[in-house]
Amino acid sequence: MRVHAYAAPAAAEPLAPTVVERRAVGPNDVLIEIKYAGICHSDIHTVNGDWGPQPYPLVPGHEIVGVVAEVGPAVTRHRVGDRVGVGCMVNSCGRCANCRAGDEQYCLEGMVPTYAGTDRDGTITQGGYSTHVVVDAGFVLSVPEGLDLAAAAPLLCAGITTYSPLRHWGAGPGKKVAVVGLGGLGHMAVKIAHAMGAEVTVLSQSLKKQEDGLRLGADHYYATGDPDTFERLAGRFDLIVNTVSARIDVDAYLGLLAVDGTLVNVGAPAEPLSLNVFSLISARRSYAGSMIGGIAETQEMLDFCAEHRLGADIELISADRINEAYERVLASDVRYRFVIDTATLG
Ligand code: NAP
Ligand code: ZN
Repeated sequence: MRVHAYAAPAAAEPLAPTVVERRAVGPNDVLIEIKYAGICHSDIHTVNGDWGPQPYPLVPGHEIVGVVAEVGPAVTRHRVGDRVGVGCMVNSCGRCANCRAGDEQYCLEGMVPTYAGTDRDGTITQGGYSTHVVVDAGFVLSVPEGLDLAAAAPLLCAGITTYSPLRHWGAGPGKKVAVVGLGGLGHMAVKIAHAMGAEVTVLSQSLKKQEDGLRLGADHYYATGDPDTFERLAGRFDLIVNTVSARIDVDAYLGLLAVDGTLVNVGAPAEPLSLNVFSLISARRSYAGSMIGGIAETQEMLDFCAEHRLGADIELISADRINEAYERVLASDVRYRFVIDTATLG
């Protein structure tokens, strides 16, 4: 099946309309008619080659929602017409200890990313800036009624990437949580941490988005461009979720943690970060990382968001504005996720 898509022809070149081939629907596959696809900063890192060489042409997009158009004969959990989503992975070995524990994202054989990966049938995966995709049923999530479909798209990456560490490190009543960076991931982290009952603080470069941050659920908002912030908040937080796509001064943020506090990096800049171990030793602090979440946990997150009526704050765009959206994301000018209306793909 040949379908319309938007692809990067080479590293750092503007994306352009194209046509890609989707495999025939196998026994355990689902054909999804994609309605909306979110633009994640990871799409931009990947297209630009920040994380290493990539296969081109490359169709990004791992925040996919749509409607089931066809299912293979062995598929029981999705039916034609169901509202479904696909996130950052489309397969994993299913047998290793991590897969069996529900942590498919940490598959010991390597999970198959939704784009620029090699699928288990040997083909290169192409992502969601496209009208249709064929995905193994085990990696297709149900989008609950009550969630707006376009606003649900960013949950498939920004939502789960923030939900998972917030759950893992126990965000909830009585916990002080800081979110660094108020972009796509950051704004979902604020909404979710607030819904979990934590006391939430936004640490943004400036106070430009303060009103938004408080509306999204933050209790406090500080500018990291103001050196006083790091003195005033020293030793304050139980958990800091860093969503920044660029280098940060790790020691400065570790200094904001209470004893036993954790700074978890979900932001994935290309350049290495360094730290002074005394920032950890001096208060038994931890520095951690976290990647998306497992399939069952992603469904749990979607159900949690439906229960709490949480979608992303989105700016819906037509496909011909993808390159402009990339520029705006790079300039931290996103409020708070661009979502592509795939009906405009041609
Ligand atoms: P985004 O929408 O661009 O948000 C990043 C935010 O970081 C910006 O809005 C800005 O917030 C802040 N920021 C940007 N440049 C900065 C700089 N030079 N110094 C300080 N702050 C800066 O990006 P996103 O889609 O949320 O993704 C964020 C990062 O997470 C990316 O690196 C992405 O690849 C990564 N990611 C990781 C996972 C995972 O599984 N771990 C999953 C998805 C994405 P303020 O304007 O408020 O300061
Ligand atoms: Zn993403």
